[in-house]
Amino acid sequence: MRIDVHGHIGRVMPDRREFIDVTALIAKMDAWKIEKTVVLPLSEHPEGAYLQCNTEDVIAACAWNPRRLIPFCLIDPRYGNDPRIDFTHLLEEYASRGCKGVGELLPKMDFDDERCLNLYRQAGRFGMPVLFDMQDRPNGYGLRDSLGMPRLERALRACPETVFIGHGPTFWAEISAEVPPDQRSGYPKGPVTAGGAVPRLMRLHENLWADLSAGSGYNAMTRDRNFSIEFLDEFQDKLMFGSDSCRRSDAASPCPIADFLDELRRSGSLRAEALDKIESLNATALLKL
Ligand SMILES: [Zn+2]
Repeated sequence: MRIDVHGHIGRVMPDRREFIDVTALIAKMDAWKIEKTVVLPLSEHPEGAYLQCNTEDVIAACAWNPRRLIPFCLIDPRYGNDPRIDFTHLLEEYASRGCKGVGELLPKMDFDDERCLNLYRQAGRFGMPVLFDMQDRPNGYGLRDSLGMPRLERALRACPETVFIGHGPTFWAEISAEVPPDQRSGYPKGPVTAGGAVPRLMRLHENLWADLSAGSGYNAMTRDRNFSIEFLDEFQDKLMFGSDSCRRSDAASPCPIADFLDELRRSGSLRAEALDKIESLNATALLKL
């Protein structure tokens, strides 16, 4: 059974039934052989409010089935608008109510903005990993960085106590050293060029992890099969399965990244021990489940 470190509930349709009970999410988890899902709030950021679901909603939803649903909390780094602001009261409260991490962090800010570094540091002190989305679009959401992700690297060095969980198109495009300029927030296809920022930073910095969720994670894992198998093998101790599925109708539809990992297992392309870590054991250890 898998652990999905990247799940959502919330208003993606005009009704809000997902908030009232979580049976749709549980049905989807059963169909996809997911034992536990980490549920991520989004709407503490104005950029994430399209999916109306804040930390209180997530904590309430997870209380319906605490054995299978794990809450994360979210704090906007601009809260108080001061890089010295103390988030202890919030982190203390959320930790005491079962939250295991901070995310999905996706404000439209530079990754190493001092207000962000302040939040990362404080999350680390509480043993909470920070799951982020990185995108490079003029509108929308997502933390920003330049090619090669120097701002992420600065944060990794500045916050050694904090585990960062990478996610999103701009993050995953950098699995390759060659990123077509018009594809920095897209889904670049074709062979991966060695020397990309993702493998380089994951190799250099113990505190950089990643989840395989969404179209961006799936694209990065399937654009160059031989590279991916080596990548999954090398970083088997800090990659985690995730779906980022936002629709209640998904129970009947396939989960592409799960199917991809199943195929690697069936074909023996990646050792079962590595797949077990990626699909559940790494999340269990990181989040102390
Ligand atoms: Zn997400």
